[in-house]
Amino acid sequence: MKCRTCGSKAVINMRQHKLALCKPHFLEWLPAQTERFIKKYEMFTRYEKVLVAVSGGKDSLSLWNILIKLGYQADGIYISLGIGEEGGYSDLSRQLCEDFSLDRNQQLHIVDVKKEFGETIPQFAQRTRRGKNKACSVCGLTKRHVMNQVAQKFGYDVLVTGHNLDDEAAVLFGNTLHWAGEFMLRQAPVLPATPGLTRKGKPLCRFYEKEMAAYAILSDIDYIYEECPYSIGSTSIYYKHQMNLLEHDNPGEKSHFYLRFLRAKDNGLFAPPEIIKQDLHECSNCGQPTSGKDVCSFCRMLEQGNEHLERSQVN
Ligand SMILES: [Zn+2]
Ligand SMILES: [Zn+2]
Repeated sequence: MKCRTCGSKAVINMRQHKLALCKPHFLEWLPAQTERFIKKYEMFTRYEKVLVAVSGGKDSLSLWNILIKLGYQADGIYISLGIGEEGGYSDLSRQLCEDFSLDRNQQLHIVDVKKEFGETIPQFAQRTRRGKNKACSVCGLTKRHVMNQVAQKFGYDVLVTGHNLDDEAAVLFGNTLHWAGEFMLRQAPVLPATPGLTRKGKPLCRFYEKEMAAYAILSDIDYIYEECPYSIGSTSIYYKHQMNLLEHDNPGEKSHFYLRFLRAKDNGLFAPPEIIKQDLHECSNCGQPTSGKDVCSFCRMLEQGNEHLERSQVN
Protein backbone atom coordinates (compact mmCIF):
# COMPACT_ATOMS: atom_id res chain seq x y z
CA MET A 1 0.00 0.00 0.00
CA LYS A 2 1.44 3.34 -1.08
CA CYS A 3 0.84 6.92 0.04
CA ARG A 4 -1.52 8.65 -2.35
CA THR A 5 0.42 11.91 -2.05
CA CYS A 6 4.06 10.85 -2.39
CA GLY A 7 4.05 7.15 -3.30
CA SER A 8 6.20 6.04 -0.37
CA LYS A 9 5.10 3.31 2.04
CA ALA A 10 1.72 4.03 3.64
CA VAL A 11 1.27 3.64 7.41
CA ILE A 12 -2.51 3.83 7.30
CA ASN A 13 -5.12 2.68 4.81
CA MET A 14 -8.47 4.37 5.40
CA ARG A 15 -10.87 2.22 3.43
CA GLN A 16 -13.73 4.50 4.44
CA HIS A 17 -12.07 7.41 2.57
CA LYS A 18 -10.33 5.23 -0.04
CA LEU A 19 -7.16 6.91 1.12
CA ALA A 20 -3.75 5.54 2.15
CA LEU A 21 -1.06 7.85 3.51
CA CYS A 22 2.53 7.74 4.77
CA LYS A 23 3.36 9.02 8.26
CA PRO A 24 4.28 12.63 7.35
CA HIS A 25 1.29 13.01 5.02
CA PHE A 26 -1.14 11.48 7.51
CA LEU A 27 0.17 13.85 10.21
CA GLU A 28 -0.50 16.72 7.82
CA TRP A 29 -3.85 15.45 6.57
CA LEU A 30 -5.57 15.03 9.94
CA PRO A 31 -4.97 18.57 11.30
CA ALA A 32 -5.84 20.04 7.87
CA GLN A 33 -9.16 18.16 7.93
CA THR A 34 -9.75 19.33 11.50
CA GLU A 35 -9.26 22.90 10.35
CA ARG A 36 -11.73 22.30 7.54
CA PHE A 37 -14.40 20.99 9.95
CA ILE A 38 -13.84 23.88 12.39
CA LYS A 39 -14.52 26.32 9.54
CA LYS A 40 -17.32 24.33 7.89
CA TYR A 41 -19.35 24.11 11.09
CA GLU A 42 -18.30 27.61 12.24
CA MET A 43 -17.02 26.31 15.55
CA PHE A 44 -14.55 29.11 16.44
CA THR A 45 -11.91 31.45 15.04
CA ARG A 46 -8.31 32.26 15.95
CA TYR A 47 -9.53 35.40 17.72
CA GLU A 48 -11.58 33.41 20.20
CA LYS A 49 -10.57 31.72 23.45
CA VAL A 50 -11.01 27.96 23.31
CA LEU A 51 -11.27 25.63 26.31
CA VAL A 52 -10.41 22.00 25.53
CA ALA A 53 -11.83 19.34 27.85
CA VAL A 54 -9.05 16.80 28.33
CA SER A 55 -9.40 13.39 29.95
CA GLY A 56 -5.90 12.02 29.36
CA GLY A 57 -7.21 9.84 26.53
CA LYS A 58 -5.99 9.83 22.92
CA ASP A 59 -8.83 11.91 21.46
CA SER A 60 -8.81 14.89 23.78
CA LEU A 61 -5.01 15.18 24.01
CA SER A 62 -4.70 14.85 20.23
CA LEU A 63 -7.34 17.55 19.82
CA TRP A 64 -5.43 19.88 22.11
CA ASN A 65 -2.22 19.10 20.24
CA ILE A 66 -3.85 19.83 16.88
CA LEU A 67 -5.40 23.12 18.01
CA ILE A 68 -2.06 24.33 19.39
CA LYS A 69 -0.34 23.38 16.11
CA LEU A 70 -3.01 25.14 14.08
CA GLY A 71 -2.38 28.32 16.10
CA TYR A 72 -5.61 28.51 18.09
CA GLN A 73 -5.71 29.98 21.60
CA ALA A 74 -6.48 26.76 23.41
CA ASP A 75 -6.31 26.16 27.16
CA GLY A 76 -7.22 22.86 28.79
CA ILE A 77 -9.55 21.73 31.54
CA TYR A 78 -9.11 18.47 33.40
CA ILE A 79 -11.80 17.26 35.78
CA SER A 80 -10.54 14.83 38.39
CA LEU A 81 -13.40 12.40 39.00
CA GLY A 82 -11.83 10.29 41.74
CA ILE A 83 -12.07 7.03 39.80
CA GLY A 84 -9.78 4.19 40.82
CA GLU A 85 -7.38 3.86 43.71
CA GLU A 86 -4.51 6.17 44.49
CA GLY A 87 -2.24 6.14 41.45
CA GLY A 88 -5.10 4.57 39.46
CA TYR A 89 -7.24 5.76 36.56
CA SER A 90 -7.94 9.34 37.66
CA ASP A 91 -4.49 10.04 39.10
CA LEU A 92 -2.73 8.68 36.05
CA SER A 93 -4.89 10.57 33.54
CA ARG A 94 -4.43 13.78 35.51
CA GLN A 95 -0.64 13.31 35.47
CA LEU A 96 -0.65 12.82 31.69
CA CYS A 97 -2.68 16.02 31.19
CA GLU A 98 -0.40 18.00 33.49
CA ASP A 99 2.73 16.72 31.73
CA PHE A 100 1.20 17.54 28.34
CA SER A 101 0.39 21.12 29.36
CA LEU A 102 3.83 21.68 30.93
CA ASP A 103 5.66 20.29 27.88
CA ARG A 104 3.75 22.67 25.61
CA ASN A 105 3.60 25.56 28.03
CA GLN A 106 -0.20 25.81 27.94
CA GLN A 107 -2.61 26.66 30.72
CA LEU A 108 -4.53 23.77 32.29
CA HIS A 109 -7.45 24.27 34.69
CA ILE A 110 -7.84 21.38 37.11
CA VAL A 111 -11.06 20.78 39.02
CA ASP A 112 -11.10 18.08 41.67
CA VAL A 113 -14.71 16.91 42.06
CA LYS A 114 -14.20 15.59 45.60
CA LYS A 115 -12.58 18.82 46.81
CA GLU A 116 -15.19 20.94 45.08
CA PHE A 117 -18.38 19.01 45.84
CA GLY A 118 -17.43 16.69 48.71
CA GLU A 119 -17.68 13.34 46.91
CA THR A 120 -16.03 11.41 44.08
CA ILE A 121 -18.05 10.17 41.07
CA PRO A 122 -18.20 6.57 42.39
CA GLN A 123 -19.51 7.94 45.72
CA PHE A 124 -22.18 10.04 43.98
CA ALA A 125 -23.17 7.06 41.87
CA GLN A 126 -23.46 4.77 44.86
CA ARG A 127 -25.56 7.22 46.82
CA THR A 128 -27.91 7.97 43.93
CA ARG A 129 -28.43 4.22 43.19
CA ARG A 130 -28.99 4.51 39.52
CA GLY A 131 -28.62 0.93 38.33
CA LYS A 132 -26.62 0.02 35.25
CA ASN A 133 -24.61 2.88 33.76
CA LYS A 134 -25.21 4.99 36.84
CA ALA A 135 -21.60 6.06 37.21
CA CYS A 136 -21.52 7.13 33.54
CA SER A 137 -24.63 9.29 33.77
CA VAL A 138 -23.52 10.89 37.05
CA CYS A 139 -20.12 11.46 35.46
CA GLY A 140 -21.58 13.02 32.29
CA LEU A 141 -23.82 15.30 34.30
CA THR A 142 -20.95 16.40 36.53
CA LYS A 143 -18.57 17.02 33.63
CA ARG A 144 -21.11 19.13 31.72
CA HIS A 145 -21.80 21.18 34.83
CA VAL A 146 -18.14 21.78 35.74
CA MET A 147 -16.97 22.47 32.17
CA ASN A 148 -19.64 25.09 31.62
CA GLN A 149 -18.95 26.65 35.02
CA VAL A 150 -15.23 27.05 34.26
CA ALA A 151 -15.87 28.25 30.68
CA GLN A 152 -18.28 30.91 31.97
CA LYS A 153 -16.09 31.97 34.88
CA PHE A 154 -12.98 32.54 32.76
CA GLY A 155 -14.75 33.96 29.72
CA TYR A 156 -13.99 31.28 27.14
CA ASP A 157 -15.83 31.68 23.84
CA VAL A 158 -16.15 27.99 23.18
CA LEU A 159 -15.77 24.68 24.94
CA VAL A 160 -14.52 21.79 22.80
CA THR A 161 -14.47 18.06 23.43
CA GLY A 162 -12.65 15.19 21.74
CA HIS A 163 -15.71 13.17 20.66
CA ASN A 164 -14.87 11.24 17.50
CA LEU A 165 -17.11 9.74 14.82
CA ASP A 166 -17.41 6.43 16.66
CA ASP A 167 -18.68 8.27 19.76
CA GLU A 168 -21.13 10.36 17.75
CA ALA A 169 -22.41 7.45 15.66
CA ALA A 170 -22.92 5.32 18.78
CA VAL A 171 -24.91 8.07 20.51
CA LEU A 172 -26.94 8.61 17.35
CA PHE A 173 -27.55 4.88 17.02
CA GLY A 174 -28.86 4.69 20.60
CA ASN A 175 -31.00 7.79 20.14
CA THR A 176 -32.41 6.43 16.89
CA LEU A 177 -33.28 3.07 18.44
CA HIS A 178 -35.23 4.94 21.12
CA TRP A 179 -36.42 7.74 18.81
CA ALA A 180 -35.09 10.15 21.40
CA GLY A 181 -36.06 13.17 19.31
CA GLU A 182 -35.05 15.85 21.76
CA PHE A 183 -31.57 14.44 22.15
CA MET A 184 -31.25 14.10 18.39
CA LEU A 185 -32.15 17.74 17.89
CA ARG A 186 -29.32 18.72 20.20
CA GLN A 187 -26.72 16.38 18.67
CA ALA A 188 -24.55 18.52 16.40
CA PRO A 189 -20.90 19.36 15.65
CA VAL A 190 -21.50 22.76 17.22
CA LEU A 191 -24.12 24.01 19.68
CA PRO A 192 -24.45 27.79 19.75
CA ALA A 193 -24.14 29.66 23.04
CA THR A 194 -27.34 30.52 24.89
CA PRO A 195 -27.59 32.74 27.98
CA GLY A 196 -25.47 31.08 30.67
CA LEU A 197 -24.29 28.25 28.41
CA THR A 198 -21.00 28.47 26.53
CA ARG A 199 -20.90 27.40 22.85
CA LYS A 200 -19.80 23.79 22.38
CA GLY A 201 -17.87 22.21 19.55
CA LYS A 202 -16.63 18.77 18.52
CA PRO A 203 -13.84 19.30 15.98
CA LEU A 204 -13.06 15.55 15.75
CA CYS A 205 -16.64 14.42 15.14
CA ARG A 206 -15.86 13.20 11.61
CA PHE A 207 -12.73 11.15 12.39
CA TYR A 208 -12.89 7.43 12.97
CA GLU A 209 -11.62 6.22 16.32
CA LYS A 210 -8.80 4.29 14.63
CA GLU A 211 -7.68 7.43 12.78
CA MET A 212 -7.42 9.23 16.13
CA ALA A 213 -5.54 6.32 17.68
CA ALA A 214 -3.09 6.36 14.75
CA TYR A 215 -2.66 10.12 15.08
CA ALA A 216 -1.91 9.94 18.82
CA ILE A 217 0.60 7.12 18.40
CA LEU A 218 2.37 8.61 15.35
CA SER A 219 2.56 12.01 17.12
CA ASP A 220 4.12 10.40 20.22
CA ILE A 221 1.37 11.68 22.49
CA ASP A 222 1.53 10.06 25.89
CA TYR A 223 -2.05 9.07 26.71
CA ILE A 224 -3.90 6.66 28.97
CA TYR A 225 -4.66 3.43 27.09
CA GLU A 226 -7.01 2.10 29.70
CA GLU A 227 -10.73 2.89 29.32
CA CYS A 228 -12.60 4.25 32.31
CA PRO A 229 -13.37 1.14 34.45
CA TYR A 230 -17.04 2.19 34.61
CA SER A 231 -17.45 2.23 30.84
CA ILE A 232 -16.96 -1.55 30.63
CA GLY A 233 -20.24 -3.16 29.64
CA SER A 234 -21.88 0.22 29.01
CA THR A 235 -24.52 0.62 26.31
CA SER A 236 -22.31 3.11 24.44
CA ILE A 237 -19.63 0.45 24.01
CA TYR A 238 -22.29 -2.02 22.88
CA TYR A 239 -23.59 0.44 20.26
CA LYS A 240 -20.02 1.12 19.06
CA HIS A 241 -19.59 -2.59 18.56
CA GLN A 242 -22.80 -2.82 16.53
CA MET A 243 -21.74 0.12 14.35
CA ASN A 244 -18.38 -1.57 13.77
CA LEU A 245 -20.12 -4.69 12.50
CA LEU A 246 -21.95 -2.58 9.92
CA GLU A 247 -18.76 -0.72 9.05
CA HIS A 248 -16.82 -3.94 8.60
CA ASP A 249 -19.10 -5.19 5.83
CA ASN A 250 -19.55 -1.79 4.27
CA PRO A 251 -16.65 0.67 4.77
CA GLY A 252 -17.93 4.22 5.20
CA GLU A 253 -21.29 3.18 6.67
CA LYS A 254 -20.57 4.80 10.04
CA SER A 255 -19.63 8.07 8.44
CA HIS A 256 -22.68 8.05 6.12
CA PHE A 257 -24.97 7.31 9.05
CA TYR A 258 -23.76 10.39 10.91
CA LEU A 259 -23.36 12.78 7.97
CA ARG A 260 -26.74 11.94 6.44
CA PHE A 261 -28.32 12.55 9.83
CA LEU A 262 -26.73 16.02 9.96
CA ARG A 263 -27.94 16.74 6.45
CA ALA A 264 -31.48 15.55 7.18
CA LYS A 265 -31.54 17.77 10.25
CA ASP A 266 -30.35 20.79 8.24
CA ASN A 267 -33.10 20.08 5.76
CA GLY A 268 -35.70 20.27 8.51
CA LEU A 269 -36.56 16.58 8.72
CA PHE A 270 -36.89 16.72 12.50
CA ALA A 271 -38.14 20.22 13.17
CA PRO A 272 -37.67 23.73 11.89
CA PRO A 273 -34.57 25.09 13.69
CA GLU A 274 -36.58 27.73 15.60
CA ILE A 275 -38.50 25.02 17.48
CA ILE A 276 -35.28 23.62 18.90
CA LYS A 277 -34.88 26.43 21.42
CA GLN A 278 -35.55 25.28 24.94
CA ASP A 279 -37.20 27.12 27.74
CA LEU A 280 -34.32 27.59 30.19
CA HIS A 281 -34.04 29.53 33.41
CA GLU A 282 -31.43 29.91 36.13
CA CYS A 283 -30.95 27.18 38.72
CA SER A 284 -31.87 28.69 42.10
CA ASN A 285 -28.78 27.11 43.66
CA CYS A 286 -25.85 27.45 41.23
CA GLY A 287 -27.23 29.90 38.66
CA GLN A 288 -26.46 27.75 35.60
CA PRO A 289 -29.24 27.38 33.01
CA THR A 290 -31.66 24.50 33.50
CA SER A 291 -34.91 23.24 32.03
CA GLY A 292 -35.83 21.80 35.46
CA LYS A 293 -38.42 23.32 37.74
CA ASP A 294 -36.23 24.99 40.35
CA VAL A 295 -32.73 23.57 40.78
CA CYS A 296 -30.74 21.97 37.96
CA SER A 297 -30.25 18.20 37.81
CA PHE A 298 -26.66 18.52 39.01
CA CYS A 299 -27.65 20.42 42.15
CA ARG A 300 -30.53 18.00 42.69
CA MET A 301 -28.02 15.16 42.61
CA LEU A 302 -25.85 16.92 45.21
CA GLU A 303 -28.76 17.69 47.50
CA GLN A 304 -30.97 14.67 47.45
CA GLY A 305 -29.08 11.93 45.75
CA ASN A 306 -31.99 9.58 45.45
CA GLU A 307 -33.94 11.53 42.86
CA HIS A 308 -34.11 9.81 39.55
CA LEU A 309 -31.86 11.87 37.34
CA GLU A 310 -32.59 12.56 33.75
CA ARG A 311 -30.90 9.84 31.71
CA SER A 312 -29.15 11.94 29.17
CA GLN A 313 -27.78 10.59 25.92
CA VAL A 314 -26.34 13.94 24.93
CA ASN A 315 -22.66 14.51 25.46
ZN1 LIG B 1 3.36 10.54 1.60
ZN1 LIG C 1 -27.59 24.06 39.85
